[in-house]
Amino acid sequence: MLVDSHCHIDFPELADDLPNVLARMQQNGVTSALCVGVTIEHLPRLLAIADAHPSIFASVGVHPDNAADPEPSLDDLLRLAAHPKVVAIGETGLDYHWHKDRPEWQRQRFRTHIAAARQSVKPLIIHTREAAADTLQIMREAGADRVGGVMHCFTEDWETACAALDLGFYISFSGIVTFKNAVALKEVAKRVPLDRLLLETDSPYLAPVPFRGKLNQPAYVRYVAEEVARLREMPLEELAAASSDNFFRLFSCALRP
Ligand SMILES: [Zn+2]
Ligand SMILES: [Zn+2]
Repeated sequence: MLVDSHCHIDFPELADDLPNVLARMQQNGVTSALCVGVTIEHLPRLLAIADAHPSIFASVGVHPDNAADPEPSLDDLLRLAAHPKVVAIGETGLDYHWHKDRPEWQRQRFRTHIAAARQSVKPLIIHTREAAADTLQIMREAGADRVGGVMHCFTEDWETACAALDLGFYISFSGIVTFKNAVALKEVAKRVPLDRLLLETDSPYLAPVPFRGKLNQPAYVRYVAEEVARLREMPLEELAAASSDNFFRLFSCALRP
């Protein structure tokens, strides 16, 4: 049994083929997936998918890259997070790769999400890219450790992983860990404590080897799991069970299949 802790099956690339996407999950033993929100505007579409499928959970957030989106208020996030299938706040965080000017609105948006997570008592899904120091600083200042969460699609170094683990966060590996050149990341994947490790696809992006460059989907979390199990020299079944347990512990999903 496997779980995809982070995907975007509400995006048209996957939503337009949803029956097949869900069938392939089942064929590959992927029993659940968390479909992560990136805009308020398209959230109804995401929630409709989660409502229609017991195996799909949802989160509420406005992605740090979405500069043109209207700022969500704390009340907006709290109101939407009350939906019964919403198990987390995010994705949120900082991305200085696409915003090299390091805008203050991005940090403010991140703080609003942390406040929403604390008030709704739901874990955070954090996206950080080329912004590790500021991300950790805001997590500390805003009390993100009170709710915890996951550093999704982790690509940072071991020191950053340790800092996030110290704040009670989980570390999630995507298809990037299967890439040949991801040497440092493979080392991190070997060292993260087994009870803090999650797996994800971030589909439709970042397809793992052997589908690199192609359209990704939740079923392919299996290839991420195979690589992490290989790196840790442990049976796939053991890694799958541990990472699935971690997922349901973190997101406290009542509807475990
Ligand atoms: Zn992300
Ligand atoms: Zn994402």
